Amino acid sequence: ARKFFVGGNWKCNGTSEEVKKIVSTLNDAQVPSSDVVEVVVSPPFVFLPLVKSTLRPDFHVAAQNCWVKKGGAFTGEISAEMLVNLDIPWVILGHSERRSLLNESNEFVGDKVAYALSRGLKVIACVGETLEQREAGSTVEVVAAQTKAIAACVSNWADVVLAYEPVWAIGTGKVASPAQAQEVHYELRKWLQENTSPEVAATTRIIYGGSVNGANCKELAAKPDVDGFLVGGASLKPEFIDIIKSAE
Ligand code: 13P
Repeated sequence: ARKFFVGGNWKCNGTSEEVKKIVSTLNDAQVPSSDVVEVVVSPPFVFLPLVKSTLRPDFHVAAQNCWVKKGGAFTGEISAEMLVNLDIPWVILGHSERRSLLNESNEFVGDKVAYALSRGLKVIACVGETLEQREAGSTVEVVAAQTKAIAACVSNWADVVLAYEPVWAIGTGKVASPAQAQEVHYELRKWLQENTSPEVAATTRIIYGGSVNGANCKELAAKPDVDGFLVGGASLKPEFIDIIKSAE
């Protein structure tokens, strides 16, 4: 069985006061046990130490990105080594906002995944098609190509969660229907089955992201290949608790 996974991607949001408030809401929440759901929140880099040191111990933290190789003369970047040094267990890589706004290619994302894993980080690797690609009928082809570049760089799939985030659903309020999400998750699992191993396909969590909220999470979570969520906007609000609860 795959343990349900709920990630909260805070993106580039928050003041230290707001961050303290979110952490305190999370710390007070009654949620299913960590045997049932794995909860990982991803604040901006500058708030990672604060969140890490104040968040309840059954929830974990993720960085939103890291540099593609060993640290050094790379102004403005944060290395995987630094995350390991701060005991940050997870990193999100290949988010569509970085792919589109910062031109991160499939290969570059793959290289980042390889390096982060080699340092001992666990990776939430993101894939997803644009509206144009969906309308052209190339959704499966696009996410398969993105997944292929990631898979080429993964040695241990136990350290990877695959996040399907259709670009047209991110921050738009246009959530994928449960059937649309299930269809792509099914195809991704089939891709893993054919290109990695049956065991990897059966055990790797494939989570959905894009306008998930407290009201639509239950129906999505009921789909057999939806193993959790990567939540943006709603992860900054108390309804994130309801999304965590959709695990059971
Ligand atoms: P929203 O939940 O705000 O649509 O963002 C999803 C996302 O990009 C999570 O990584």
